[in-house]
Amino acid sequence: MNTNQFSILRANRQIEFNAEKYKTKPFIFNGKKKSVYENANLSIFVNESCNANCKFCVDQLRFEGKGKTFVKGRIADDEEYFARLEEVLETLRPLNTSISITGGEPTKSKRLPRILQLVAKYNFRKRVITTNGSGLLDKMDGKRVIDHIVENGFHHLNISKTHFIEGINAEVMQYDNSYFTNEQMAEVVKIALAGKVRPRLSCLLLKSGIHDIDGMMQYLDFFGSMGVDNIIFRETMDYDVTAMLNVPKMRFLEENKVPLDDVWSKIDMMPQVFKPIVQVLGYYYYCEVYKFKGIDMVTESANLAAIDHQKAKVPGMVFEMVLHPNGNLNGSWIEDDDVLLPYATNDTLIYSGRDKNL
Ligand code: SF4
Repeated sequence: MNTNQFSILRANRQIEFNAEKYKTKPFIFNGKKKSVYENANLSIFVNESCNANCKFCVDQLRFEGKGKTFVKGRIADDEEYFARLEEVLETLRPLNTSISITGGEPTKSKRLPRILQLVAKYNFRKRVITTNGSGLLDKMDGKRVIDHIVENGFHHLNISKTHFIEGINAEVMQYDNSYFTNEQMAEVVKIALAGKVRPRLSCLLLKSGIHDIDGMMQYLDFFGSMGVDNIIFRETMDYDVTAMLNVPKMRFLEENKVPLDDVWSKIDMMPQVFKPIVQVLGYYYYCEVYKFKGIDMVTESANLAAIDHQKAKVPGMVFEMVLHPNGNLNGSWIEDDDVLLPYATNDTLIYSGRDKNL
């Protein structure tokens, strides 16, 4: 693979998002026959809030793109929640999807250790947790959260980190409390690697943060020296501007966008430094993977607005699944949109969430 081969799909990525070509598996949801994308992922959305308030948070934009606010209901009773989780895992086990635990901030949920255990019990093929890192060294049920992740055989630990300079990172991610330092990162990476969990760092490219090749190389070197060998740089997502309500976040994203096309054109000129490995086209995202000094460096651009377009092209297709804290299993990140397995509860749902800056 060389950079010239990369450039054709790169240039056409928006028109090549083509769900009709995907391989699927048939599956019945609530009596309705659907086709599930072969590489579909099940996300378990653990908690409805986050202890950070990143200026770029896409979770909020996903909701606001549908004219909704980031407020979610959740099953209040723990036993009822775990019964529902187990029911969904058992139902979906034949699909053997990848599973990712996400939030809000999952490492701050007291439910997390038992969720990890249940996912391990059903032995799904790939298990990932995505976190801002802040709770990984907290103790729950007598052990650190990272130890629970290791013990339950998770394969990947995705950690968001905007910058290696603490002040810049803190300014963008705006943690309420319990900031996750680089020193803690080094400790977590060591424990994860010893336990065969592969850490992956995620950095959103921002004009006020990492914004060029030099910054990317410094980031790669800084965290590479801790033993991290998988780092993703993301372009801020494109979205439907007419549907958004969150003016401060939209303004931040607009002012801070670093076009990956510019970065890629520089990378193309450095084939000895960045060795092209593969390119991946998802249903609303596009990635290029390079090798940099032994590190797998992924670069990703995505368009949230393409999701609905792709779904409309192939009705009945399930691209991904999300188990929401209210017990609904959906084909969408919105808890009452595209419901695949609705959850009827006798329990009172608690409504809460982050509504800062809305
Ligand atoms: S860590 Fe940041 S991006 Fe992730 S959910 Fe929290 S606020 Fe959003």
